[in-house]
Amino acid sequence: MSFSRREFMQVLAVASASGMALSHQDLLAATPGAGERLYDLPKFGNVSFMHFTDCHAQLLPIHFREPSVNLGVGDAVGRPPHIVGEQLLKFYGIKPNTAQAHAFSYLNFEQAAKTYGKVGGFAHLATLVKQIQTSRPHALLLDGGDTWQGSATSLWTRAQDMVDACKLLGVQIMTPHWEFTYGADRVKEIVEKDFKGQIDFLAQNVTTSDFGDQVFAPYVMKEQNGVKIAVIGQAFPYTPIANPRHFVPDWSFGIQDENMQKQVDEVRAKGAQVVVVLSHNGMDVDIKMASRVRGIDAILGGHTHDGMPAPVIVKNGGGQTLVTNAGSNGKFLAVLDFDVRGGRVQDFRYKLMPVFANLIKADPAMQALIDQHRAPYKAKLEEKLAVSEGALYRRGNFNGSWDQLILDALMDVRGADMAFSPGVRWGTSLLPGDTITYEAMMDQMAVTYPATTLNEFTGAQIKEIMEDVCDNIFNPDPYFQQGGDMVRVGGMTYSCSPKAPMGQRIHNMRLKGQPIEADKKYKVAGWASVQEGVQGTPIWDVVSTYLREQKVVKQVKVNAPQIVGMQGNPGMAA
Ligand SMILES: [Zn+2]
Repeated sequence: MSFSRREFMQVLAVASASGMALSHQDLLAATPGAGERLYDLPKFGNVSFMHFTDCHAQLLPIHFREPSVNLGVGDAVGRPPHIVGEQLLKFYGIKPNTAQAHAFSYLNFEQAAKTYGKVGGFAHLATLVKQIQTSRPHALLLDGGDTWQGSATSLWTRAQDMVDACKLLGVQIMTPHWEFTYGADRVKEIVEKDFKGQIDFLAQNVTTSDFGDQVFAPYVMKEQNGVKIAVIGQAFPYTPIANPRHFVPDWSFGIQDENMQKQVDEVRAKGAQVVVVLSHNGMDVDIKMASRVRGIDAILGGHTHDGMPAPVIVKNGGGQTLVTNAGSNGKFLAVLDFDVRGGRVQDFRYKLMPVFANLIKADPAMQALIDQHRAPYKAKLEEKLAVSEGALYRRGNFNGSWDQLILDALMDVRGADMAFSPGVRWGTSLLPGDTITYEAMMDQMAVTYPATTLNEFTGAQIKEIMEDVCDNIFNPDPYFQQGGDMVRVGGMTYSCSPKAPMGQRIHNMRLKGQPIEADKKYKVAGWASVQEGVQGTPIWDVVSTYLREQKVVKQVKVNAPQIVGMQGNPGMAA
């Protein structure tokens, strides 16, 4: 028997939609990963949630390399999400060299990415959502935020492409973070016009700075199969620190445990038998919050981009709370099923499914919408800037090859001794030999505050900046972890001791082998300053200029610090 690839995909889609077993072994062999039954999801319980988060405006399938360094400190040592590579596979019982191993780890990234193909894409996600709905028509679709930012088209349409795509996908509830970087007025416009009557935009921890009034609804109550449920929204608590304050000048943020407890108590009093928090706290913060607030059944979390195959179960005064994190860039869809009887949750099932574009057909209506939004920008998006000899990726605590390329461009074009690039976690990956298109470049830098800067800093100032950012990542109390990964540093080498106290983590700073001097001034290039009114060439002009000159980008040499005192930490590849 022979099947064309197209017929095979149709058989596969039908088989998984109906729960029918695939019987043709030759078919299973035809598309890598198909034999793993990634999308088999037996019915369970009477209340269900679908959850994706941090898609960062990636409407098309992409590659995304998971981190090889994700260190935990304090209580988080060796606890998810601070486990990488082989340790992660072992912890979750995932077989090496499988589609799942590729989805959840960085292992063998380049080869595995070729074998299993691209991940994500809203048209493929839409098909998967529809499949889940056939067995769970009651399931709610939740979007954890960082949805409107991260691509050229989202920036150029001021999020309209993502807003339209989320509406078509059938998102019912969302909570924000990078959304705020379009400014308070644009957020309000979308929430009050586009989302009205369809998507609840929730944030219990965003209030007006003057009287402390809620800016958005804190929660929404729904019903599934006669069971009353509540979803409470938790926006990124450090938005005005990690991103420019001037975009949201009149609003206050923060973690606000006490207000969260108040909301939980209120929805329980109104009869909610299931309480879920849709959170953009980041996983360590969610785990701490789950230990302090009673009465939450699950925190469906985002922000830290951790693709966690199973929830962390946190015991607390109210019983237990499941804490999950659903990865990033459209790569995963989570399904959480609850068995609710006698007025409370009795049991649960959870599955985080990787969205492999080769295994799931594209939904035609979603594909048409995406094509329509891209059409006006097609030529610009497809411009070929250069070819990369090595893989380009970003994610990881300290540096990635994409970041290094940005740093190299900044130092070269702006004539600096060294460069800083923000440690954001978004940004897609490219494989060796891939063309760097304008679109792929913009995936790394599509922000509303793109100005590049050239400053003279003393050695003492440079150390102070680095110590400050380092504490945002490695403060042992997650409530003080306020940003993304470590600032990426070009030109200067250094060592880092994550376990040391604040102000004592950065050592051995050197430029071209010479120690950095406290009083000496150095030319430092950077971009994405959170200060208001910063002027400068946008980062995309700097990097595209550099790439057009290079034509071929050789293997970039990633400048990563020497890590001190973390031997044996499972958050670091051996
Ligand atoms: Zn975020």
